[in-house]
Amino acid sequence: MNEKDWKQRYEDLLRQHESEEDANRELEGLLTRTIIRLTLAANGLDPRLDPHLKGVRDAVRGGINDQLKSKLNALSDGLLHFSEETGASESDMSDEYVRLLDGLQLSKKKAQEAVQLIRLLSDDPSQMDDEQFSRLVDLLSRDRPAKEKKGGLFERLLGSAPSEKESGPRPNEILLNLLEQASWPGHWGDEVSRLKLRLGREASGDAWTEVLHDLLELSAKSYGQVQMEIKEAEDFLEELTQRLQDLGVHLQSAHDGRNRIAAHGRNLSQQVTGHVGDLGASVQAATDLQQLKFAVRERITLIQSNIEDYLREEHEWHQKSEASEKELKHRLEKLEKESSELRSRMVEAHHMALIDAVTGLPNRLAYEERVEQEYARWKRFNDPLCMLVWDIDDFKSINDRFGHQAGDKALRVIANNLQARLRITDFIARYGGEEFVCLLTGTSGDEALKVADEMRNSVESNGFHSAGKPVTVTISCGIAPFQSNESIDIVFSRADKALYEAKKAGKNRCHLG
Ligand code: GH3
Ligand code: MG
Ligand code: MG
Repeated sequence: MNEKDWKQRYEDLLRQHESEEDANRELEGLLTRTIIRLTLAANGLDPRLDPHLKGVRDAVRGGINDQLKSKLNALSDGLLHFSEETGASESDMSDEYVRLLDGLQLSKKKAQEAVQLIRLLSDDPSQMDDEQFSRLVDLLSRDRPAKEKKGGLFERLLGSAPSEKESGPRPNEILLNLLEQASWPGHWGDEVSRLKLRLGREASGDAWTEVLHDLLELSAKSYGQVQMEIKEAEDFLEELTQRLQDLGVHLQSAHDGRNRIAAHGRNLSQQVTGHVGDLGASVQAATDLQQLKFAVRERITLIQSNIEDYLREEHEWHQKSEASEKELKHRLEKLEKESSELRSRMVEAHHMALIDAVTGLPNRLAYEERVEQEYARWKRFNDPLCMLVWDIDDFKSINDRFGHQAGDKALRVIANNLQARLRITDFIARYGGEEFVCLLTGTSGDEALKVADEMRNSVESNGFHSAGKPVTVTISCGIAPFQSNESIDIVFSRADKALYEAKKAGKNRCHLG
């Protein structure tokens, strides 16, 4: 593992972080718009709530932050009082009156006026004058204003709400749709399923405020986790750099030590040569044996002490460098272990960020990555490449008839059926709520149509089980082969158009665009 590898990993992690940030930003935009839509949908229910709703709407324009949280809390409190009070005022009215007023969808002020007049009428009709009577008739027979129409993303979200009524979908349903259609990171899976359950049919009308609150917390927590991982990787790289510097210092000092010893060795050899020369001169100059013995002993003692000095220094140097080598080896081993742990955590985190929680298939982010790779390969080698866009038929009615949990189960079964028919070089992802996208490599349009029909047949013949009973479900597909000079977006919109044709032609079919 060298410094370059680590730099590469660090850059990969940063890149991943950036793409997760993009996804977060997109999600934040979607949340912001949903909150605005939810508060608009709830506007006019009660004048006491309206300032809170406006507060939330204004706060959300500044992004998802603490101010928004406090406004949401204020709204929750407001809602609590509101439901307590309305509960009391309605308790003395018969169910029929409540239903009647509900059905008329009067504004709060007019509803209150109507309630008073109805009470008067039922308590003592003789007290009611003509004017009051005709006002009541007027209130009960007013034409409802035409429904507002809105376009864009919310048209999609609202248009597909399972129990859209004349009054438009309720906030809980809007949020449920958002939770289903957005592509959530794999590790959010359980949390998002729990949030969805809390918005189910039995939920109270204002369940969305708390669920939204928890969703924001979840998003903040997950963002914090990514930041923490980046920080950890940065700390690790800093430590790695420090260790590499230590290693450099050690190598330098080992090198210096070796040079010193070599110089000392050269010095020793000069000294010994000098002593030997001196010894020769003393031998020549010696006049008696005693003097000669003395001179020889003196030179030999000098030579011995020079050699001992040299050996001591060499020994000390060896000991020192052995100890520092041991320490260095230990530190490097520790570093190696930390690096492999960090690497497996990073691999795991990257993997989780690319997997869809409900089906276990690659998610939209994974698709965005893969389609770029396949596109580059297709441009380089020009092997045929096909895009398939799938959408489950009448899935709304599956949810309505069997419940959302059964719907989720159906999604898993369908995902398995689709995947089972693909080759190892092909790719499938859950693109959105009940939409999938496939990339078939080395496959022409006609071949892709055959494969797609097999996949479609497999979905139809396998179906899924709800409460032990088999349920048939079908799926439609639009196919677009990549053609010269087309961008990915163009190919996708051709496949989407072919899907639309398949739906228009009666569903449960595949169309080649
Ligand atoms: P069509 O044949 O025209 O596609 O009809 P459809 O009912 O499938 O219509 P549409 O595609 O507009 O609706 C999709 C529905 O799928 C709406 C939404 O409630 C449901 N859905 C999307 N994602 C999920 C999910 O993750 N779980 C469940 N249970 N339902 C989902
Ligand atoms: Mg759809
Ligand atoms: Mg559909």
